[in-house]
Order: sequence, then structure tokens, then C-alpha cells
Amino acid sequence: MRRYHVTTFGCQMNVHDSERIKGMLEAAGLGEAPDRDEADVLVFNTCTIREKADDRLVQHLHDARGRKDRDPDLQVVVAGCWAESQREAIFKDFPWVDAAVGPGRISSLGDAMRADGERRGAFGSFDDFAADLPQRRERNFQAWLQLSMGCNSVCSYCIVPSVRGRERSRHPREVLAEARSLAVDGVVELMLLGQNVNSYGRDLPPAERCTFAEMLRGVDAIDGISRIRFMSPHPKDMRGDVIAAMAESDAVCEQLHLPLQSGSSRILKRMRRTYDQGRYLDLVGRLRHAMPDIALTTDVIVGFPGETEQDFQDTLDVYEAVGFDHAFTFIYSPRNGTEAAGFEDQVPDAVKHERLERLVDVVQRHAAARNAALVGTVQEVLSEGPSRTDPHVSRGKTRGNKTALFTPAAAAGTTVQVRIEETTSQTVRGTVESPVPA
Ligand code: SF4
Repeated sequence: MRRYHVTTFGCQMNVHDSERIKGMLEAAGLGEAPDRDEADVLVFNTCTIREKADDRLVQHLHDARGRKDRDPDLQVVVAGCWAESQREAIFKDFPWVDAAVGPGRISSLGDAMRADGERRGAFGSFDDFAADLPQRRERNFQAWLQLSMGCNSVCSYCIVPSVRGRERSRHPREVLAEARSLAVDGVVELMLLGQNVNSYGRDLPPAERCTFAEMLRGVDAIDGISRIRFMSPHPKDMRGDVIAAMAESDAVCEQLHLPLQSGSSRILKRMRRTYDQGRYLDLVGRLRHAMPDIALTTDVIVGFPGETEQDFQDTLDVYEAVGFDHAFTFIYSPRNGTEAAGFEDQVPDAVKHERLERLVDVVQRHAAARNAALVGTVQEVLSEGPSRTDPHVSRGKTRGNKTALFTPAAAAGTTVQVRIEETTSQTVRGTVESPVPA
């Protein structure tokens, strides 16, 4: 049996697409190889959000070429955003690549792998949502549920709209049917996905329109789904109806990833984020008013062009005021093809690194404090199986999306109540209070 290996870069949308790619390859009779060295088909599902991701991928492709020189039957396949961004050059610059598909053409992967010449590439026009394709889920009790694709925003640093195209929402009937069938399959936790997930539905014809808030309530009503999360929302679309739906839907977890990017209104304007510091803080206030225990995480970019010490201080001030549970922190790196790459007032690298270090200290301090505040509380934890280091300890996620370690161990997919006894900035640890179902 020929065997495949998929390497996934980037966001959750790619993780989801990779599950579809694996499902399609298995439906075609291939098995999964434990690592790249043992595979006959190497698939790279790529990201192009940062220059560093591109460099890493190119290195992988050169390694694949070395293998292909020794084994000409090896197939090298590239999918995802980087493939789309290189559509004009990929087969010229990397002639050992056998097939390439953009993120909107995942369902054409099989045809591209069987084709010759130009038809080895499928880019641009959007085939359809990958929902009807077979999929190989990593866990049988958790699933991704794609609501939309593409993005209509014009953030000045972001390449996504040019590779994933304008926003297209899936028909609500289709989304809910998939959610119901996943629940019947034993899925209890759904992650709703979209590049800008909470603007879902606005592009649908008026007769079929369904808002993101209505979608949250619709999924919440499905028997068997006890946890709903979503990625990535945009603060501009986090309106009152969405906050109410979150607060009133039992299954929607008390957790939100709300990208800040910068705390400076001046920089936010240059980023074209369409909110300012005041609006963001007001939104956090409304979220906490509706859900006092909500865990908030965020993304922050440091060193955006023109960022002064005062702008950076504004970011630190917002971070302190909100007291996020955690953050993904990034150093701004110019992306070819974006507006911000052409800004002349780029921040020197040394300044960017020094600011990042200061930000990370603040992030860690708040993460430790937010977790420490959970000591003595009882948290619902969905077990994901044994911890990486000790089979007698289980690892899972709280509703607030904290990584929890607990004893006695509980089977993957089991929900338990855990009393939290100790914490670090990364994890919470405790003992199961409720009996663990056999
Ligand atoms: S909202 Fe902005 S950062 Fe997010 S995908 Fe769209 S353009 Fe990129």
C-alpha cells in the first residue's frame, strides 16, 4: 500500500483542510505513514502569513527534492495559501513538485495528482466547501465545522484576502446538517471556523440569511453538542446579538480569542482594523458584563511600521487593563503584496525584539495570575487522554480552554469535574471530584 504524510502549517483552517486531505487520500486507498521518511506521497499544507513560514516551507521542499532524487516515485504535493500565492511560479521554481492546489481547490487534489502539465495545478476559483469530502478526524469527540471562507477586511499587514479571496458563507442548512451528523457520530465539541467567523452569513441571499448569533443558537440546540468554540472573530463584528447568544447558549464555552493586534488607536488605524482602543475596551466590558468568568485570549503584533514607544506603551496599557488569559505575540514582518510592506517607517529589528520581550513578560505575568485565580474552583474538563509524560495523569481542556492535568485518569472524550489545586502560567492541575464514568 502506498503511504502518505501530511505536514500542516498555519491556522486551524489548514488543520481542518488537512483532515479532509487525509480523508481523500485514504478514500483513494493510501495509508498514513508515521513520518515523512516512510511516505510515498508527501503533502505540505502551507501557510503564507509570515516570511518565516515561507522560508521553512522552502527548506522542506528542498529536503523533499533530495529524497526524490533517490526515489523518483515519490510524489510531492503542495496545498494551501503558499501554493496559491506562488501559483504562477511554483512548477518553474520547484520543478520536482508534482501537484499543487490552492485553499479553495482542496477537492481538486486527486485530479491534480493524476494530471500532467498545467493541470497539475488547481488554483483560484473556489470549488466548494470541503465539507462533503471524506475526513480523518484526529479525535472522535472533537470536530471542526467550517462556516465560511475568505475575508472581506483589508488589514494592511495581511495577505489572507489575496490568497483566500472574498468571504463566502456556507448555507446554514448545510452547516447545521453537518453539525447534527457529527453529533450522531459522537462529537461533543465543535470549533466553528472562519477567517472572520463572526461576519458569517452577511453574503448569503436575503431569503437564506442567518447571522452568526443565530448560527450559535442553532448549533447550541443540537443534542449531544456540549461545547462550542469559534475562531477567529473580529472585534468589529462582535455585536450585542453575538454576546447575548454566547451568554445564553449553554454549549458555548466561556472563552473568546479576540485579536487586539495593537492597543494604540493610531496604529490600529494604520492597520485598518476599524476599531480603536476605546471601542475594544468597551467591547471587553460588555463581554465581561454578560459572562463574568469569560477567559479572554488575544493576538498582538509588535513593531508595526511607525509604532513609537508611546504606541507600544498603549498596547501594554490595554493588556494590563484587560488582563488577558494568554496571548499569541508576533513581531511584525513585512509581507510582500500587502500595503504595510510599503510603509517607509519600518521599526528597527532590535527595537521590535526589545518590545516583544517586555510584552512577553506582561503576558506571562497575567497568564500566571489568571490561572492562579482558579485554585480552589471546580472546572469542567473534557479529557483528551493521557498526559504526554505520565499515563496515570490525564490531560484535557477546561471550558475556558486552559490545559488541565488531573488524576485519576479519565478516558479521552470523558467530561469530568476537576478541583484545581495548583497552576502555572501554562497549565492548571487538580483532582477529579465527580466519579469518572467507566
Ligand atoms: S480580518 Fe484582517 S487579519 Fe484577519 S484575515 Fe481578514 S484581513 Fe487578515
